[in-house]
Amino acid sequence: MSDPEGTEPRTWEQQGCAVCRRQWESGERPQFVAESIADRSRLYRCDVCGTWWLSTERYAVAVEEHEISGMYGESLGA
Ligand SMILES: [Zn+2]
Repeated sequence: MSDPEGTEPRTWEQQGCAVCRRQWESGERPQFVAESIADRSRLYRCDVCGTWWLSTERYAVAVEEHEISGMYGESLGA
């Protein structure tokens, strides 16, 4: 990983693993974790690679734990 700060946009292939990417592509979802009413987003986590996924009305994106700790801090420790 040459971009540990995450300053450059990641391509789809750089997010999660083949299993969870396929779940999004096929209309399935990784494991549902929590929902944020205020943010109108949903948090999922891949059982295989452990990637956190943030889903909004428009798209899903892999996120780092620190990126979502503000919204989902209570859910991350479970
Ligand atoms: Zn995965």
